[in-house]
Amino acid sequence: MAQNSLIRTQSYVNGTWVNAASGETFDVIDPATGAVIATVPDMGQADVREAIEVANAAWPAYRDLTAKERANLLRKWFSLILENKEELARLMTMECGKVLSESLGEVDYGASFIEWFAEEAKRTYGDVIPANTKDKRLVVIKQSIGVVAAITPWNFPLAMITRKVGPALAAGSPVIVKPPSETPLTALAISHLAEKAGFPPGVYNTVTTSKNAEVGLELCENNKVRKLSFTGSTAIGKLLMSQCASNLKKISLELGGNAPFIVFDDADINAAVKGAMASKFRNNGQTCVCVNRLYVHDKVYDEFVSKLSDAVAALRVGNGLDTNSQMGPLINEKGLNKVKHHLDDALSKGAKVIVGGHEMEGLFFQPTVLTDITPDMIIAREEVFGPVAPVARFTDEQEVIRLANNTPYGLASYFYSKDISRCWRVAEALDYGMVGINEGMISTEVAPFGGVKESGVGREGSKYGMDYFMEIKYLCFGGIN
Ligand code: NAP
Repeated sequence: MAQNSLIRTQSYVNGTWVNAASGETFDVIDPATGAVIATVPDMGQADVREAIEVANAAWPAYRDLTAKERANLLRKWFSLILENKEELARLMTMECGKVLSESLGEVDYGASFIEWFAEEAKRTYGDVIPANTKDKRLVVIKQSIGVVAAITPWNFPLAMITRKVGPALAAGSPVIVKPPSETPLTALAISHLAEKAGFPPGVYNTVTTSKNAEVGLELCENNKVRKLSFTGSTAIGKLLMSQCASNLKKISLELGGNAPFIVFDDADINAAVKGAMASKFRNNGQTCVCVNRLYVHDKVYDEFVSKLSDAVAALRVGNGLDTNSQMGPLINEKGLNKVKHHLDDALSKGAKVIVGGHEMEGLFFQPTVLTDITPDMIIAREEVFGPVAPVARFTDEQEVIRLANNTPYGLASYFYSKDISRCWRVAEALDYGMVGINEGMISTEVAPFGGVKESGVGREGSKYGMDYFMEIKYLCFGGIN
């Protein structure tokens, strides 16, 4: 087993570290080396049902804590996460492959949601409504929703958990985290820190599993779970939404994207290259807000492609634990095959490789720039989720907006221009939940994260994030003389 003081190899339920009732386990693999890092419990339906029971039993006492008491627990957890930043980051790099500098950044980013919602816990204000008759008084209060299930992806092993459980715990709801089978160790490590922070038994639970279908079904169909928050692929998001329809469970979905990145002829080209590099190649191209298609105005196309290609050619690929590396491996064979498939399809339809284009050892792939992209290529329509930057040429603003919006997805989008009128015009016309204007890095705990169309339902983070974990209750006081 790998060395890291935060490795825990049991699930965490009701304040206790437990194995699966069946005794079954599964291995956690380092994508950079193929080595087994650790083995964790493979929980089944009965195990997760038990976790739901204990979480539900813990709810009344937890929601009755004052907002300040809950905020203090969150603040302790936040501090413990930051105190353990280096170990957490190393663990994250080991199981998901992202380079150490990015893992360190994710610890800060992930912790920021806990800090933010610790503060928000104290501001879940209601309303007093001017009454419609003299003998009534109308009041609105907000209450915790009940047990929250959080199903999260491997590409942000820490932050996708804290972005969900931060507001849930702040609002007074116990949580059940179902981390991905690729990266359960970071999830268990922060469960250990939640235990140290002093959350009461049953309030924070983490169930590791590879039996996603049965565990997912139980989380959706069990009516003691009052809210499901999911981040992952659109296909699984649709499945979970249909399963939750059986009891009309409240649901938030943060799903796939297909982000366009537009460079207008009046853009600062150096800034655009910097933004494209940050957004395209972060986490090896495996983020939901990653640039997926670049549209560059004909007048600046050659300059942009040349500068982008130089920057991409200079990227150093290697094991994320090596501080020299700027890009790690893809998460698994399936991810690697997807990149190869998108590339082969684009090349067969006339795309040209300017830089990269080849697989390396194991799950590593060369950072790649492709040009002459056309809308019929798969890479122009679907998330490649890998280190390939496909560039297309355009001449007309209306046409590029049409191309950018011509997708079922609507998560992040980006464009570069120095013309303020164009900036407003294009920002308003892009059919996306988030728009980066002269900026490639848009994620922060203080702003609402989420998508339109098939990229999801709801928003996470910011002052808007809390409401998705609370119910609004209307109180009508009658007979007031
Ligand atoms: P995924 O296959 O949908 O997996 C996401 C989570 O769902 C994992 O925990 C996964 O477990 C679990 N899962 C799989 N099948 C399930 C089922 N039948 N029932 C319940 N849970 C199930 O997504 P992925 O490919 O790992 O992640 C990448 C996707 O997430 C991309 O599309 C990306 O754009 C999206 N994403 C979106 C955001 C956002 O905020 N919008 C952020 C990050 C990623 P296993 O891992 O064990 O299969």
